[in-house]
Amino acid sequence: MPETTSPSSVRIDPARLQAMMEAVSVFGGGADGSMTRLTLSPEDGQARDWLATWFRKNGFAEKVDPIGNQFGRLDLASANAPVVMVGSHIDSQPNGGRFDGALGVISACEAILAVRETLEKSGGRSACNFVVANWTNEEGARFQPSLLGSSVFTGAADLAWALDRRDGAGISVGEALESIGYAGTDTVPIPDAYLELHIEGDSVLEREGLRFGAFTRFWGAVKYRLAFLGRQAHTGPTPMAARHDALLAGAYVITDLKALAGEFGLDLHTSVGRMEVYPNSPNTVPSEAVLFIELRSGSQAILAEAETRLLASIEAAVARAEVGHEVRSIDRRAAGRMSPGLVHLAERASDANGAPARSLDTIGGHDAISLAAVCPSIVLAVPSVGGVIHHPTEFTTPEDHAFGTQVLADMLLILANEGLSVLEVEKERR
Ligand SMILES: [Zn+2]
Repeated sequence: MPETTSPSSVRIDPARLQAMMEAVSVFGGGADGSMTRLTLSPEDGQARDWLATWFRKNGFAEKVDPIGNQFGRLDLASANAPVVMVGSHIDSQPNGGRFDGALGVISACEAILAVRETLEKSGGRSACNFVVANWTNEEGARFQPSLLGSSVFTGAADLAWALDRRDGAGISVGEALESIGYAGTDTVPIPDAYLELHIEGDSVLEREGLRFGAFTRFWGAVKYRLAFLGRQAHTGPTPMAARHDALLAGAYVITDLKALAGEFGLDLHTSVGRMEVYPNSPNTVPSEAVLFIELRSGSQAILAEAETRLLASIEAAVARAEVGHEVRSIDRRAAGRMSPGLVHLAERASDANGAPARSLDTIGGHDAISLAAVCPSIVLAVPSVGGVIHHPTEFTTPEDHAFGTQVLADMLLILANEGLSVLEVEKERR
């Protein structure tokens, strides 16, 4: 068995990693450190071409699926061995930062390359093959919803529907893919595990003086589009008692939601981020107020409890403001846990590098959350200076890039040496 020839350690090349980060940052990067690489834009196309060239030069086989997800496969085992996919996204927000997403794709390239070099040197064999993934439209800035490419990949979103999403200028995803040459035809199977290194995008690691984290839970969300229906009237002569003010009902719910979040401490976030008021005139009692309500939590039980309380708050607001109401849409995204086996593997690899893995919650979306529905998945995190993300000052030090990539490479080497059964074993042990 491989034990006799298995290399015990792998070393990534920090200089090569940095050179790659700098190379990809040219596409859409500004002098102030900003990054504007909207998905399927010409800049995104150039960055994809750069990655495709890198794949070719390093012996990775490029594949592009019909939603434009870009993959680079490196076979280190037999063709039907399990596949470990590693990646993230290289699209960005407008005037965003350079590390959100790009680090995950570049570190995947470096970590897999380092594992190959190590195996070649030692003559060791791998138990699995590796694929780098660059997902289309993770950000949701140009096209909505976010996580579009990974959602189509896992079957959670319909391909034809996704290709028909349109940006503010009316251009569809399908047209944008054609224009940069990434309307692919390849079929890429669901992997046996998925790993993603990402900047934390928060300041927990920095505050605690830690350099590595593993997202163990992802938050779920419940989103309501709710209309209160009142009666339009003059704000002057109409007696107060005769009013049916839809906006007032909205105000009651907004304050109730703030109080509700307070009851659950840090485990519940609530918001009304948008309200559409009709007719929206200073001297007309509103006949309609549509609220865009969000509840978010890492606990499915708290989400359910919060939703029950929201419904009670709506009923109370309806009674108090003497209006009607109508639920126009409900979206639910379940809270969940990342693969315990991969969390344990991350802890083992980061301990070996002298830094414990801090358990974190992810509140924002990640492609790994899409993948978690179909295979063991994890997001690993390195510190964000000041917790900044989606801003030109977003920054993670080169040392932390290298550290996160080293832990990632160590995880990949363990999977190469011991096979994916290591994930099952670790799961049972917990
Ligand atoms: Zn990201």
